Amino acid sequence: MINVETVGTNMFLAGKWVNRSNIIEVRDPEDNRLLTTVPAASKEDMLEAIDEAKVGLKIASNMSVHQRVDILNKAADYIESHLEEYAITIASEGSKTIREARKEASRCVQTIRLSAEEARRITGETISFDQAPGSEGRQGYYTRIPIGIIGAITPFNDPLNLVAHKVGPAIASGNAIIVKPATATPLSALKLAEAFEAAGLPDKVLSVVTGYGYEIGDTLVTHPDVRMISFTGGVEAGLAITQKAGLKKLSMELGSNSPGIVLADANMIEAVEANVSGAFWAAGQNCLGVQRLYVEQTIFELFVEEFVARTQEYRLGNKLSEETDMGPLISEKEAIRVESWVEEAVLQGARLLCGGKRNGASYEPTVLMDVPDHCTIAREEVFGPVVLLYAVSNIKEAIERSNSVHFGLQAGVFTNNLEYAFQASEQLEVGGVMINDSSDYRIDGMPFGGVKASGLGREGVQFTIHEMTEPKVICFKLNKQ
Ligand code: NAP
Repeated sequence: MINVETVGTNMFLAGKWVNRSNIIEVRDPEDNRLLTTVPAASKEDMLEAIDEAKVGLKIASNMSVHQRVDILNKAADYIESHLEEYAITIASEGSKTIREARKEASRCVQTIRLSAEEARRITGETISFDQAPGSEGRQGYYTRIPIGIIGAITPFNDPLNLVAHKVGPAIASGNAIIVKPATATPLSALKLAEAFEAAGLPDKVLSVVTGYGYEIGDTLVTHPDVRMISFTGGVEAGLAITQKAGLKKLSMELGSNSPGIVLADANMIEAVEANVSGAFWAAGQNCLGVQRLYVEQTIFELFVEEFVARTQEYRLGNKLSEETDMGPLISEKEAIRVESWVEEAVLQGARLLCGGKRNGASYEPTVLMDVPDHCTIAREEVFGPVVLLYAVSNIKEAIERSNSVHFGLQAGVFTNNLEYAFQASEQLEVGGVMINDSSDYRIDGMPFGGVKASGLGREGVQFTIHEMTEPKVICFKLNKQ
């Protein structure tokens, strides 16, 4: 059992809570307050986790479906009955406000319950072997088997639910899993392990190994006994992992600078509300966050006025206060980077409509227009509370400009015109198009992932389970009389 208030939190190594003399300080980015420390695991620790996971895999794959369902439901019950504790952990170690953190904790409960439901539906099909000449008299089928030991590497911005998106499906499908959470936010992942321990998950099936990616990442990524790396994080780390991983399955959930399109026929007030929320949720540190908005020329002026007015209502402040709409970025370093990208755009001719001021790790919700296409902030993922507004003459231009970057995770399109909605759905180069919602819309059961530099493979419980299992064919040659 871990306690966020206690200095010195242990990591979860194959069912045991262990400490180490090398530690990492976990600080609240709002005031740099020391929350606790966690072990800075060594390569040897990671090797031990992998060794133990070999035993864990045998245990996990032999667990009956009803046992898996029971453990998953009990873990979900545990989190639900300690929801506020989980929310406070998320809000303390990360950027989210308490209201945002409660939503993440509730979604985590749903993700794990969904994993329990999907555990029942891991099935195969019969195969018509006699479709091939000479294969008469054979009957058979395929089942789906666990892929093996899974290495899960997770980011700081959804420190609980994104870990649950890997752990829930892994347990549902009979795998062993080792989580390497983000160094900035390891506590939520450890609290997830606490829930699975309380639910009776056998030792060795799950480890949460805390440590620096550059120190222990390679051990996990390159180990031949690890059959899959499920990574969520930035493109740079994702590429580095892809180049090193060797012969194993890769799931890459990477970043984006998501576009939104608002056409003249749309409900403008709803479009403003959804896109402001989509841009500034979790202080813009959201892979689905709205970064580029293409608005039809005829309504542009009014849209800008409403958008800026709504943005200026956002209240920054103490994350644990119910009144606060937006917390700080994950670190002052990140806030300085965002500030420098905005300054670069302004120097190149962009207009700052509101925001643009930094105070420590906090950065005001910021709206820019007339940002030249060559600026860093127009091309790369800002991962901060900044949105860029552009006027476009029609849907064709909006789609072309939306597609002009190397990312492609999700897009939002606001229109009541069916033709335009279909045109955008077909032509936008992304993994998901949300009509009359911002790019930020997602449920945990849908296929989720990107094209281009936004990733490889899909998450969303049912789809993750598909990635975490492999078909196995069984064929009977029968001597028919
Ligand atoms: P990050 O810097 O890429 O780190 C993600 C994880 O990778 C951390 O646990 C990190 O460990 C680890 N890591 C870094 N370099 C590694 C290496 N060479 N080998 C193995 N592990 C390594 O990302 P972040 O700043 O935490 O998160 C923000 C990014 O995640 C954004 O780009 C965002 O869009 C993306 N994201 C994508 C999705 C999605 O579903 N598509 C969801 C959420 C976030 P350390 O913390 O120790 O460095």
